Amino acid sequence: MYRIGGIEAGGTKFVCVVANQAHEILAETVVPTTTPAETFGAALRFFREQGGVQALGIASFGPLVLDPEAPGYGTIGRTPKAGWTGADLLGTFQAGLGVPTVLDTDVNGAGLAEARLGAGQGLDVMAYLTVGTGVGGGLIIDGRPVHGLTHPEMGHVRVHRHPLDGDFAGVCPFHGDCLEGMAAGPSVMKRLGHPLSEAAPDHPIWTILGDYIGQFCTTLTLVASPRRIVLGGGVMGNTALFPLVRSACAKGLANYVPHPKLAATATDYIVPPGLGDRAGAIGALLLAEGAMRTG
Ligand code: ZN
Repeated sequence: MYRIGGIEAGGTKFVCVVANQAHEILAETVVPTTTPAETFGAALRFFREQGGVQALGIASFGPLVLDPEAPGYGTIGRTPKAGWTGADLLGTFQAGLGVPTVLDTDVNGAGLAEARLGAGQGLDVMAYLTVGTGVGGGLIIDGRPVHGLTHPEMGHVRVHRHPLDGDFAGVCPFHGDCLEGMAAGPSVMKRLGHPLSEAAPDHPIWTILGDYIGQFCTTLTLVASPRRIVLGGGVMGNTALFPLVRSACAKGLANYVPHPKLAATATDYIVPPGLGDRAGAIGALLLAEGAMRTG
């Protein structure tokens, strides 16, 4: 019987699933992210109790070392999350379950899922960006997430300060006022003391965030020419942001790139996810299928 495993490895929880060929979930468990030893141990126990899997995909928070030639391949890079720098995700699960295993970033996993089964189906070049606790993105070309030397770190591209945003310094510990520093959930908490969903509809924060995220969509359009940009994550769950992002993206392009899909009023270029909050787990399963093909 065809059984594949997936782990959506997040900073607060590991969602572990076993599925069949149709991506129907046969078993699922949620393991809190505590220490690598505890969390990995509980996840391994779950897969063993299910009778094992034929391949495993892991879509994880990062940064990750994804270059097979690099020292520490398959581990978590320098992360502010205590105890997790250097945690050997790939090695632990590959050895622990003895099956082909593929590791990728959480956003590449979610992007892959959106490209194959969600809002980016049938598109040869698409981008997925999540704006939530952090900001991250993946570029999916011909059904595969783009890697290279490391993996994209789209959340840390700089943005121009919005005039209504005063001297807000941003919250990224590395760059201060990069996109993540200015537009992720913690930046909203720092400015307002509450999440975006509780902001009044006429509060300037909507325009400010829409502008920053739109600026990044302009950059993404100019750099990668995706056919569609899928915006997910908790902040984008406030769907009133979409028209503001579209408008800011079009303003940044200033009619330089001639395509009707890029107009401020076009609604099928910058879109919400098609898979909701299941994209991460489904992405991990798709990574497992890739492992089976190559492993
Ligand atoms: Zn940054």
